[in-house]
Amino acid sequence: MDTISQRKKVVIAGGGNAGISLAAFLRRKASDLHIIVIEPSEYHYYQPAWTMVGGGIYPLEKTFRITKTLIPDGVEWIRDKVAAFDPENSHVVLASGKIETYDVLVVAVGIKLLWEQVQGLAETLGKNDVCSVYGYELAGYTRRCLENFRGGRALFTAPDTPVKCGGAPQKIMYLAADNFHRRGLSAHSSVEYWSGGTRVFGIEKYEKTLKKVIERYNIKTFFRVKLSAVDGERRIATFQGIGEHNKGHRYEERFDLLHVVPPQGPPDVVAQSPLADDKGWVAVDKHTLQHPRWPNVFALGDCAGLPVSRTGAAVRKQMPVVAHNLLAVLEGRPLTHSYNGYSSCPIITGYGRLVLAEFDYDLQPQETFPFDQSKERWTMYALKRYILPWLYWNKILRGKM
Ligand SMILES: Cc1cc2nc3c(=O)[nH]c(=O)nc-3n(C[C@H](O)[C@H](O)[C@H](O)COP(=O)(O)OP(=O)(O)OC[C@H]3O[C@@H](n4cnc5c(N)ncnc54)[C@H](O)[C@@H]3O)c2cc1C
Repeated sequence: MDTISQRKKVVIAGGGNAGISLAAFLRRKASDLHIIVIEPSEYHYYQPAWTMVGGGIYPLEKTFRITKTLIPDGVEWIRDKVAAFDPENSHVVLASGKIETYDVLVVAVGIKLLWEQVQGLAETLGKNDVCSVYGYELAGYTRRCLENFRGGRALFTAPDTPVKCGGAPQKIMYLAADNFHRRGLSAHSSVEYWSGGTRVFGIEKYEKTLKKVIERYNIKTFFRVKLSAVDGERRIATFQGIGEHNKGHRYEERFDLLHVVPPQGPPDVVAQSPLADDKGWVAVDKHTLQHPRWPNVFALGDCAGLPVSRTGAAVRKQMPVVAHNLLAVLEGRPLTHSYNGYSSCPIITGYGRLVLAEFDYDLQPQETFPFDQSKERWTMYALKRYILPWLYWNKILRGKM
């Protein structure tokens, strides 16, 4: 008779977007597996809605659910954190000290927000009109900051590190600019984009439209600059020049509203483990998502060391690849599935407008719809506002997409 101890055991570290959708998919595909999700958080967040919360078009309380209600039937949830990975012995050590062994491990612990890398930021975040959509409560505060804005300088930052959802720093800025315009504040306000990057968007097709959007709202752009300090009480943001043209230059900028996207990087538990690549992400083959040294280890989602834009959309395409390939490992077959680097960024460019960027590793557009997605469209806005949240809770997290 089949008992738990005889069943193959898949341990999934992290029960966010990637971890839960994989557990649900595996449960449907291979019901005899013993699937364990290790996840410390009592709540699960639909983070893509936080830009809409900040822009005042989505209720904050609809962006979370209780983790327990999302764990698929038949999947074991261990409410704990992975404290260390030991791939040589095929086990993980939990914060409680317990050891969990596995036949296959999937690492899906997300990305780390590095607020502390900006001096003074942690002290002032969530007050003094210093806001961010990178957090549940912060997204609610961002909405209040936009509503309370009465004109002046509104600065929107983007770091020079990888981030989850590369479009988010701009989405909230376009919503803010549209909001200020509709309230007649444009004439006495300046909306500014201070970015660590080199350009508005890495794919020309979409960038063309975004440049027009920037012109429409009269947004000023500054590239190769990095937010290094914030003095909330004096309302001063300090940036360092990091480009060839401005290296060593220091900019001290007064603000009336500051929206910060923090620098981001791999979680310590990954960076300090033998699984890490030279940048601290989980090393994986970019097509099979399998670890190059330990074939029974895979990575999925934001923590994977992939040259890709980190999004839930990317997770949606990576997840079945990991699922099928890990089943192949368990059954001693060659790997069958390959990921092409698909990612997507639904860039809200104003109330009722959205550009749906979709692309692969080669930055070639991989569009879903039979029309030019680089145009701003209400239908695509409706997709983001009404359809994607429903799909997330009802299909994606249930392993049905
Ligand atoms: C403001 C914002 C806007 C976004 N907009 C979009 C968008 O429009 N479209 C889109 O596709 N994507 C968007 N994203 C990105 C998307 O939310 C992420 O790419 C997606 O959640 C990645 O899934 P993940 O499972 O890798 O990480 P997460 O969903 O963040 O989950 C990681 C999980 O790992 C857990 N964890 C952490 N450490 C440990 C540990 N040591 N042990 C066990 N568990 C651990 C965490 O508690 C968490 O639950 C946005 C994100 C933000 C913040």
